[in-house]
Amino acid sequence: MLTQTEFDQGFDALQELALDIRWSWNHATDAIWQALDGEMWALSRNPWTILRSVSRDRIRALLSDREFSENLAAQLAESRRLRLAPGWFQEAHPGDELRTVAYFSAEFMLDEALPIYSGGLGNVAGDQLKAASDLGVPVVGVGLLYARGYFRQSITPDGRQEALYPVNEPEQLPLRLLREPSGEWLRLELELPGYRLWARTWEVQVGRTRLFLLDLNDPANPPAYRCVTGELYGEGPETRLKQEMLLGIGGWRLLRAIGLDPEICHMNDGHAAFAALERARFFMQDHGVPFAEALLATRAGNLFTTHTAVAEGVDRFPSEMIARFFRRYAEKELGLSLDDFLALGRSNPRDTTEPFNMAYLAVRASGAVNAVSALHEEVSKALLQPLFPRWPAGEVPVGHVTNGIHVPTWDSAAADAFWTEVTGKDRWRGDLAGHEAAIRDVPAARIWQLRATGRGQLVERVRDCCCRQLAEDGTPSSEIEESRAIFDPDALTLGFARRFATYKRPDLLLYDEDRLRRLLTDTRRPVQLVVAGKAHPRDTAGQALVKRWTDFARRAEVRSRVVFLRDYDMQLAQVLVQGVDVWINTPRRPWEASGTSGMKILVNGGLNLSEIDGWWAEAFTSEVGWAIGDGVEHHDFADLDRREAEELYEHLERDIVPEFYERDASGIPLRWVDRIRESMARLTPQFSANRTVRQYAEDFYLPGARAFAARSADRGDLAHALCRWKTEFRRCWPHVHFGEVRSTSSESEHVFSAEVYLDDLAAESVRVELYADAAGTQSAFKAVMDRAPPTATSGGWNLYSAHAPAERPVSDFTARIVPFHPDLSVPLEAGEILWQH
Ligand SMILES: *Cc1c(COP(=O)(O)O)cnc(C)c1O
Repeated sequence: MLTQTEFDQGFDALQELALDIRWSWNHATDAIWQALDGEMWALSRNPWTILRSVSRDRIRALLSDREFSENLAAQLAESRRLRLAPGWFQEAHPGDELRTVAYFSAEFMLDEALPIYSGGLGNVAGDQLKAASDLGVPVVGVGLLYARGYFRQSITPDGRQEALYPVNEPEQLPLRLLREPSGEWLRLELELPGYRLWARTWEVQVGRTRLFLLDLNDPANPPAYRCVTGELYGEGPETRLKQEMLLGIGGWRLLRAIGLDPEICHMNDGHAAFAALERARFFMQDHGVPFAEALLATRAGNLFTTHTAVAEGVDRFPSEMIARFFRRYAEKELGLSLDDFLALGRSNPRDTTEPFNMAYLAVRASGAVNAVSALHEEVSKALLQPLFPRWPAGEVPVGHVTNGIHVPTWDSAAADAFWTEVTGKDRWRGDLAGHEAAIRDVPAARIWQLRATGRGQLVERVRDCCCRQLAEDGTPSSEIEESRAIFDPDALTLGFARRFATYKRPDLLLYDEDRLRRLLTDTRRPVQLVVAGKAHPRDTAGQALVKRWTDFARRAEVRSRVVFLRDYDMQLAQVLVQGVDVWINTPRRPWEASGTSGMKILVNGGLNLSEIDGWWAEAFTSEVGWAIGDGVEHHDFADLDRREAEELYEHLERDIVPEFYERDASGIPLRWVDRIRESMARLTPQFSANRTVRQYAEDFYLPGARAFAARSADRGDLAHALCRWKTEFRRCWPHVHFGEVRSTSSESEHVFSAEVYLDDLAAESVRVELYADAAGTQSAFKAVMDRAPPTATSGGWNLYSAHAPAERPVSDFTARIVPFHPDLSVPLEAGEILWQH
């Protein structure tokens, strides 16, 4: 008989494991949940609901079972060991000062058991949090707990999308309410006009990292405010603004309330930008300094990652609305006038007609800004150009860290076994060195076997889902029976699943329906296609595209070769990316900032056929997959779509289908397998969140933490000095001007000299530069001009000179003056620039 203490210990162990979302990517505990309630496990994949719903007798019986309780103890020990063991970060950066990185995001996609995401942005946040756990990077996430999350898709019998909002009951989600040491709920206060609101706070364990969530569904709040955290991206701009206040301001307060004071604040898109203000407010309070100094000190530790590729993608709020919600906060908390506050979100601070732009605020409050792919860096520079007037677009201070996916979340059990065999068990926890070479040695038959397993499982799932969908529509059972035999486990399987937004062109494959039909119905070399995706409830054009696919998939001649699977979510995405042979992606360049779904298929041996956009613009070579588009931006969409649809069909007809069905004596398509091997070897490590998070840690978190430490030391001495420097600089700057600029040219070089009047400015406070724009094949030219020793009679005048190669005409070059301070980032923190002409 189990004693009460043994039962309690066993129950606590189950609870600890069930509340650690590590089960979403590490399957070592699956057997435990399977044993507790196999049916519920298969349906929900949510250990926490299982534990809450199963009877005590059942738990007691299992705990009395030797094998079960030994496995439970072993899993608990392993989970605790992993939480404390030094990871890649501790080993690569011993003794570093970085203690906490706060990662703010409006959505996190961690598991279907916690549906608080919409798509790509949440995917990036969730996958990075998991990778941080694997690597030991000290990240905590901060987000919102939505009572209804993002909408779910159902399809009416006549093929139209309907939006549904099932309720997230907090008791069924794998999270805990945060409490004070006394046991009372940890509630945060938030002032909104007329009300003092209480925010509830929650904690999710994500391996060795934690995610903190906030919501307003507290019985103490007025009903109108309790729904603010109802839907993700659901209601109008005012709700969005309240959500963003809660996320940023509430989020930073939460961290402080539980004793964290992060050195780094990573804002995943502009929704989180208010966090930077609240961080500065705490700094003001801690050190008794004004807002400008506090912001200058703290911004060194703020990182803004932008995800949008179009200006409309950025949150902008009317000034009137900001005034309503932030007047008191600006005046009373930050010591700013409302106008100064509004100026933080405008490109031209004095233009009162400009709305308040969250991306602008984020840039003004950050020490570094990054885009999410190399191409997106260029796009973002253009979007943020208005903040840096007169600076060349190429010098707008935006870098990039290309997204990656958390491989253990997206690999199939078969792929997990395959990679374990080839690269070892801890392969996604270190620096990935050696993976590429190891994969190159794998025999073709082994790779092909992995593909067959993945495709077979997908076909099973497609049949199940299809039967269910038909039954839901009231289809006669004979027809449902027929659909048990649709698809072929050996046929070339294509997948297309994403948000149905027009720029993603989910209908490009349907451009010529007959041509697609011929591909699908070829009896000798059949092709099958799985499609899924949701259109935003207000996007009628996107919904029309859903309808187009559901109509097409119903046509008798293609019904056994194409399906539209409903309600694209994380679980469905896993099934698809683990099974398809080719993943298709057709956005209009350059609107896909990065894209991540194509990365999820790499580990499973799928191949990409994609527009040269986002991550694929970096990843594509002819050895690893196929590309459409010419790598240039076009504006005549009708013509572009026609040409790219043609390319898409041609690739399929001419390259993909023949190569897939070209077999050797043992039935293996060798050229195809070579391509998989190259794609796996080169791309899987590179486009993993493991690489992304290591890059964030080394290029941003560590340097940012050092810069923040320097600026904040001694109650912000350096920040104070920098503020004074900026004030003095701005006082003198209007008087700075060029005198004469001369040049002499020889065969090999031009020599330029420039007279510059600096007024009272120290010469060390500026840089005089010689500059030429990129032109043709020539890249941009930039050289710092040397200052001649001052003469007794110079009186504010200085003489500068520089050499430039003679390949470019002398007229290409211009002199310019920019601010310089060794501790300031120019132009991010001081954007003045004066051109010779
Ligand atoms: C991966 C994923 C996305 C993002 O994919 P994109 O390639 O950026 O379109 C969106 N939704 C779900 C459910 C996903 O799994």
